[in-house]
Amino acid sequence: MSYAHEILKNLQRSSPAQSEFYQAAEEVLASLGPELERDPRYLRHGIIERLIEPERQILFRVAWMDDAGGVHVNKGYRVQFNSALGPYKGGLRFHPAVTAGVIKFLGFEQIFKNALTGLPIGGAKGGADFDPKGRSDAEIMRFCQAFMTELHRHIGATVDVPAGDIGVGTREIGYLYGHYRRLSGRYEGTITGKGLDWGGSLGRKQATGYGCVYFAENMLNARNESLEGNTCLVSGAGNVAIYTIEKLYQLGAFPVTCSDSRGTIHDEHGIDLELLKQLKEEQRQPLSRYLEYHPKAEYTPAEDYPQGGHAVWRYSARAAFPCATQNELSGSDAEALLANGIACVSEGANMPSTREAVERFLEAGIAFGPGKAANAGGVATSQLEMQQNAGLTQWPLEKVDSHLRAIMADIFRRSSRTAAEFGQPSNLIMGANITGFRRVANAMIEQGLF
Ligand code: NDP
Repeated sequence: MSYAHEILKNLQRSSPAQSEFYQAAEEVLASLGPELERDPRYLRHGIIERLIEPERQILFRVAWMDDAGGVHVNKGYRVQFNSALGPYKGGLRFHPAVTAGVIKFLGFEQIFKNALTGLPIGGAKGGADFDPKGRSDAEIMRFCQAFMTELHRHIGATVDVPAGDIGVGTREIGYLYGHYRRLSGRYEGTITGKGLDWGGSLGRKQATGYGCVYFAENMLNARNESLEGNTCLVSGAGNVAIYTIEKLYQLGAFPVTCSDSRGTIHDEHGIDLELLKQLKEEQRQPLSRYLEYHPKAEYTPAEDYPQGGHAVWRYSARAAFPCATQNELSGSDAEALLANGIACVSEGANMPSTREAVERFLEAGIAFGPGKAANAGGVATSQLEMQQNAGLTQWPLEKVDSHLRAIMADIFRRSSRTAAEFGQPSNLIMGANITGFRRVANAMIEQGLF
C-alpha cells in the first residue's frame, strides 16, 4: 500500500464519516508525492501525519432563544489546524449543512492557502449548523452572542483570528465582535471583516472576489489572453460572487450568470450588478426576484436541474468563476463547459469543483486556478486588516488594493514556478499545494516536534 493510501485509510478509520475532509486530503496528498520523494526529511519528521491532525478541535453547544421564546440548540465548531506560521486564521460558516467534516476540510485547505499568501498566518476554520435564513436581526444577534460566549475564550489577536464565510457577513461579524469586546474588555483585532468605522479594512469586502478575478487575469495573461471582451459565468450571489462580477466589469469582461441556492439567472445583457447588490446584499431576497426588473432574463429553479449538474455551467463562455459552495461543479458540468469553449476556471469558492471536474480541466490543459490559490485574496486582506489594527491605523483603498493585486500575482508566479520544477507548469493544483506545503513543513521542522 502506498504511503498516501495508508494515511488516507487511517484517516477514514480515526475520523469516520467526513467525506469532504477525505476529498480535500486526498487532493493535497496526490499532488505532494514528488515533493515527498525529493526531500526525505518530510517523512522522517512525520509532517503529513501531523498536518492532517488538527492541533485542537473545539466543539461546543450554542443554546439561544427565538423571538417567540422557543429554545434552540446548535453545534458550534472551531478547528485550530496549524499554527506553525502564525496565529490561527480562517472564517466562520453558519449553514445547516455544517458538520465536523466540512469544517475540517475547510480548515485543512486554509493551512495551505494561508501559507501560499506568504503572510504570517496559521490555518483554522469554524462555524455552526445554524440556518440564518428567515431569522430576524434580533435572533441573529442572540445566536451570535451565544456562539461568542463560548468561542471568546479560545481566540485573540495573536492567538486565533476568525472572519466571515457563508452565512457570516458584516452584520454577523458586528454582533460577534461586539460580544467578544464585551466579554474580554479589549478592543483589538480579534476578528476580521469588521465594519469600516470600527476597525475594518477598506477593500476587505471586495477582496476575495477581486482577487479571484486578478488570479484569472494572471493565468490568462501568461497564455497571451485576457478577460477583456470575454463572456464569463459566475455562480453564487453572495459576497464572493458579487465582487467577482464587479471586478469582471471593471476589467472589461461580460458576466452573464449568477445563482443562489434556489436557482440560476442568465441575463444575456449582462448581470445587473446594482440590482444584485440590492436584492442579495441589502434585502436578502431570493434571486428569482431579479425577473421582476428584467423579465427577459432566464431563471432556472435549482430543482429543475438534473442531479449532479448546475444550470450555470451549461451556458457558453470563455471563463468560469464558481463562487457558491463545495462540489457545485460536477464532471458533467466540466464536460459541458469544455464543449462550449471554456479557457479558464478560477475558483472563488472552496473546493467547488468535484474530483472528476478537476481531472477533466487538467486533461484539457485549460487555465485552472484552484480555490486555495484563486480565493486567497480574502484571507490575505484579512491579514492586512490585522496589520492595520495592530498599528491603530486605516490604509486608503488604493494601498489595500495594490497589496491585493501584488499578492495574487505573487501566488500565481510562485505556484507556476513550483509546478514547472516538476515539469507540469500549468498544473497550479500541484504548484499551489507544494508551495504552501513547503513553507508550513519547513517551519514545523525548524520549530521542533509539537
Ligand atoms: P455568502 O453566504 O455571502 O454567499 C454564498 C452564496 O452561495 C449564496 O448566494 C448562497 O445562496 C449560495 N449557496 C450557499 N450554499 C449553497 C448550496 N449548498 N447550493 C447552492 N448555492 C449555495 O458566502 P461567500 O460568498 O462568503 O462564500 C462563498 C464561497 O467562497 C464559500 O465556498 C466560501 O468558503 C468561499 N470563500 C469565501 C471567502 C470570503 O471572504 N467570504 C474567502 C475565501 C473563500 P443563498 O443566497 O440562497 O443562501
